[in-house]
Amino acid sequence: MLNPTVLELGQKRSTIRELFAFGQQRAAIVGADNIFDFSIGNPNVPAPDAVKQAILEILNTESPALTHGYTSAQGADFARTAIANDLNARFGTSYGAHNLYLTVGAAAALSICFKTLTTSPQDEFIVLAPYFPEYLVFIEQGAGARAVVIPAQTTDFQIDFETLTQRINPNTRAIVVNSPNNPSGAVYTPETIQLLTDLLRAKSAEIGHPIFLISDEPYRELVYDADTVVPFLPSHYENTLVCYSYSKSLSLAGERIGYVLIPDSVTDFEQTYAAICGAGRVLGYVNAPSLFQRVAAQCSGLTADLSIYRKNRDLLYDALNAYGYSCTKPKGAFYMFPQVPDLDDAAFCERAKQLDLLVVPGRDFGAAGHIRISYCVQTETIERALPLFEQLAR
Ligand code: PLP
Repeated sequence: MLNPTVLELGQKRSTIRELFAFGQQRAAIVGADNIFDFSIGNPNVPAPDAVKQAILEILNTESPALTHGYTSAQGADFARTAIANDLNARFGTSYGAHNLYLTVGAAAALSICFKTLTTSPQDEFIVLAPYFPEYLVFIEQGAGARAVVIPAQTTDFQIDFETLTQRINPNTRAIVVNSPNNPSGAVYTPETIQLLTDLLRAKSAEIGHPIFLISDEPYRELVYDADTVVPFLPSHYENTLVCYSYSKSLSLAGERIGYVLIPDSVTDFEQTYAAICGAGRVLGYVNAPSLFQRVAAQCSGLTADLSIYRKNRDLLYDALNAYGYSCTKPKGAFYMFPQVPDLDDAAFCERAKQLDLLVVPGRDFGAAGHIRISYCVQTETIERALPLFEQLAR
């Protein structure tokens, strides 16, 4: 006998993973150069040189027992202190090691937060479409709570406050925000954040318990225009838990390193921090990878070279508009989310697949009629794929 839920999840991989696997199979037949894989968000820009230097220095100077051994469950004290210092320098805060819990990437950070805040199967987490599809798995199967989806506001991918206001109720435990956003590339404006935090404060008072803001921030540093500001949410809302990851900023997606930031301002801070530790324990994470805790301590705040993503965004955006796709210009992350001409995203992706062009249907992100194009690829791959996008638009 097997757990049917996890069996089904294991048998039915996500569309993104399916497409990625299909691309690898096709590459073996037709050659990697002839596959235009825009399916997965695997950074193609190398990690900054500082990461390599840090790894070499750590391996050459520290004892293997320290470098590769267990750390405390919440992460080595010096690593948490270094990350807190970096945040303080950038955001004018005064965090210490006690505000951080290091994790196996943002996925683990999110799972830990959902588990921490779930008190009964009736508890609800609000997710704003378009969303990272794994949220639903982490909330429903991981934490045993309910995911409540607010439909996308596709004009500018900000928030549909009318629907959001209606859907908040006494079962609401938290709202998940992801800005810069996967898959739309949108960044919430300061006005959106003001409206959101005002609403959450008012609703928390009305229902008599805090509604948390879970800020999923793997793309925090990936913004492309000087006038794009990514508000630092703990400075705007006291009950914010930040789920951060170095997967994208440092191009370390496979190394699995990130954190939960638990500011002192959260309600019942000490208990909340303890519950985060308890959730990590229940989920069996033990501790975040030891070597990469040390790398994060040295490299937090640095980024890979983001100029290629910006170049890719501009190239793809201008071309798709010229071909007649309707597209909101992404402000950050490395995804574009245009509408397909006949609004049948699944059929479009199937037709694209016949041409070895791999893009993901928007319905997987809760916004049918769109496709997600992950442009963290070589610029040349985009240049060579443009005629296919043009052909498909016709
Ligand atoms: N959240 C979002 C919005 C993502 O796009 C991703 C990965 O693509 C994750 C979380 C998970 O990131 P990590 O690799 O740090 O687990």
